[in-house]
Amino acid sequence: SEQTKLEWNKAPCRFCGTGCSVIVATRDGKVVATHGDAKSEVNKGLNCIKGYFLSKIMYGKDRIQTPMMRMTNGQYDKNGEFTPITWDTAFDTMAAKWKKTMKEKGPTAVGMFGSGQWTVFEGYAAVKLMKAGFGSNNIDPNARHCMASAVGGFMRTFGIDEPMGCYDDMEAADAFVLWGSNMAEMHPILWTRVTDRRLSAPHVKVAVLSTFENRSFDLADLPVVFEPQTDLAILNFIANYIIQNNKVNKDFVKQHVNFRKGQTDIGYGLRASNPLQQKAKNVATAGSSTAIDFEEFKKFVADYDVTSVSKLSGVSEHKLIELAELYADPNRKVTSFWTMGFNQHTRGVWCNNLIYNIHLLVGKISTPGNSPFSLTGQPSACGTAREVGTFSHRLPADMVVTNPKHRAAAQKIWNIPEGIIPPKPGYHAVEQNRRLKDGDLNCYWVQVNNNMQAAANMNEEGLPGYRNPENFIVVSDAYPTVTTQAADMILPAAMWVEKEGAYGNAERRTQFWHQMVKAPGESRSDLWQLMEFSKRFTTDEVWPKEVLDANPQFKGKTLYQVLYQNGNVEKFPLSDMDSKYMNDEANHFGFYAQKGLFEEYAQFGRGRGHDLADFDRYHEEHGLRWPVVNGVETKWRYREGSDPYVKAGTGFQFYGKPDGKAVIYALPYEPAPESPDEEFDLWLSTGRVLEHWHSGSMTQRVPELYKAFPDAVCFMHPEDAKKRGLRRGDAIKVISRRGEIKTRVETRGRNKPPVGLVFVPWFDASQLINKVTLDATDPLSKQTDFKKCAIKIVKA
Ligand code: SF4
Repeated sequence: SEQTKLEWNKAPCRFCGTGCSVIVATRDGKVVATHGDAKSEVNKGLNCIKGYFLSKIMYGKDRIQTPMMRMTNGQYDKNGEFTPITWDTAFDTMAAKWKKTMKEKGPTAVGMFGSGQWTVFEGYAAVKLMKAGFGSNNIDPNARHCMASAVGGFMRTFGIDEPMGCYDDMEAADAFVLWGSNMAEMHPILWTRVTDRRLSAPHVKVAVLSTFENRSFDLADLPVVFEPQTDLAILNFIANYIIQNNKVNKDFVKQHVNFRKGQTDIGYGLRASNPLQQKAKNVATAGSSTAIDFEEFKKFVADYDVTSVSKLSGVSEHKLIELAELYADPNRKVTSFWTMGFNQHTRGVWCNNLIYNIHLLVGKISTPGNSPFSLTGQPSACGTAREVGTFSHRLPADMVVTNPKHRAAAQKIWNIPEGIIPPKPGYHAVEQNRRLKDGDLNCYWVQVNNNMQAAANMNEEGLPGYRNPENFIVVSDAYPTVTTQAADMILPAAMWVEKEGAYGNAERRTQFWHQMVKAPGESRSDLWQLMEFSKRFTTDEVWPKEVLDANPQFKGKTLYQVLYQNGNVEKFPLSDMDSKYMNDEANHFGFYAQKGLFEEYAQFGRGRGHDLADFDRYHEEHGLRWPVVNGVETKWRYREGSDPYVKAGTGFQFYGKPDGKAVIYALPYEPAPESPDEEFDLWLSTGRVLEHWHSGSMTQRVPELYKAFPDAVCFMHPEDAKKRGLRRGDAIKVISRRGEIKTRVETRGRNKPPVGLVFVPWFDASQLINKVTLDATDPLSKQTDFKKCAIKIVKA
């Protein structure tokens, strides 16, 4: 039969924080092809291998298409078989569980776990449902495992989240320094831009630092493999080198920087009973930070001399000096990139602070090519997880629940009474798993993530909570995963262009897309699910009686009415939509829900440094970088002439801080919570591979990507293999104090660990490496360190 015409439309890629734009071809209700968007400033027509196969991610044979619940003989049974049910049965069952739990134990016994893969609208609707509806701050994104330390670093140094620079830095820099970031595999399109710059400008230098050699080392002029955790000492050495060699930009520092010393928390974030946690008490001192001056800072970093840091880190003195010179040389513009090597670290916030120290000392910041640049993992880690406030301590636009003024501002925009948002942060990701296990958190809804594969120490601190008979766990996903299989109820989710969406990438760029195809079967978007579920609750059932007595106009209203028909969200009619496109949510609810949610959300940031453009503009543009003031995007923040918030005559203003000055922190090296010993004699590092997105639930269903990297392997040094009588391909067990997995030895290929360290990727559901990893967290950011723990390897 004759085929209908192809339709081509833009959308951001579904996967990493690079935020490539793609052009999507649809025909007969199916996505049939994608290609890189030549009009995109981000990817200039290119995609990585994951992006090229985007058209296939929605069509895996085992797509979940109907709600399901574990049942026996027609009744819910925690140990029953997954049985198809209707949406009404699903939501009615959930609502009954939520209501009973909240009545008996209060709002802290319900929780939600999402991700930086929620669209902006979905994350925002989820925050509203939890914080403004249920009055519970127990919502967290898996960005907690990914970007929380970066957030902590930004907030402590600058008082505002997210990078000051943008991707344009890549064409202007004279040096790139990668700190624990394998951009070649994790941000491949950005890596093409770095490579282009390096190869077309011979004076440009690239330094790559990691605990093992990876693909990014192929381009490195300065390859640096360091002993795990000693990045803290290397960073302090660079600051010391700059000072000792008189390379401090004194004018910049005098005008724009304050100095502080000290930390605000101690420990490794493990359970108090863990012996490793006990050890932590001997390592760091408690106390908040205090003001110091430059001379005190100089004295503090003086201990980090080249000889002692070389000995500690295993990096030669000449390499350390060469690295420090890249920053110290006044004629070189330097861009530093980092990702999980810094963030997944028990002192991840400090790592972030320490890299800012260096850029601030030499004044290499906020100008083209001079950029300390935190890259994000997920497509909307910035746009959703961070900016709309899906963290347990946050509200939209960098506001926090602990600040009464912020709570009041949020309650005002949301048109809800005072006293609904609790002042105490909710449970963060790791704490949620522990509270589920302990039976303090009983009703739990997971959307857009696969935490039972992604969470550290999942055998001891993850799975038991899901299987705790006191708990009811709901997981929304498009495909069966380790997490859906551990749940009590599964809800089928629409994916990517099966719904209208918005993502915010690593350079503050907000990108929109339209719905282009229908989701299969009964699948519905997370937004639809959240809004529909809210209809099952009335304020009388979930809000404190005293609040309702003082605000009787809210009595008897449904949460749907309060949250989504609140004078802001429902005021945009269906006629505002582009009739060329579908919009299942808007048509179902009778108003342009995405537009209403976005415009309400935008009120939080406008005039506060987080200005977003009008909703309709984003559908026309290939993304805009906030703040967008008077219709113009901002490339470099904090610099006069580039950032509309900076006053004339000031040069730079770090306006997130009351006095407009950024902070340099004196922070020490601290050993890792667990390091190799006689029994567990190797370091384990985990991470991703180019071909697979996170836990592989989508990319492993694309035949080409599956075949390109079918199974996880244990990359190890040939000498380590030989010492254990192992050869390439041998079956082995990777064992830690917490668990073990079976895998195979790989002594060749893309990752070349040094003697004493192995690397295992975590995408493979048949080899759950997070049974082995340690759930130690940064005490400030509560982010887990997936990059180092002690293991042993034996023949399987
Ligand atoms: Fe671009 Fe990342 Fe998608 Fe690859 S996965 S196409 S680098 S956004």
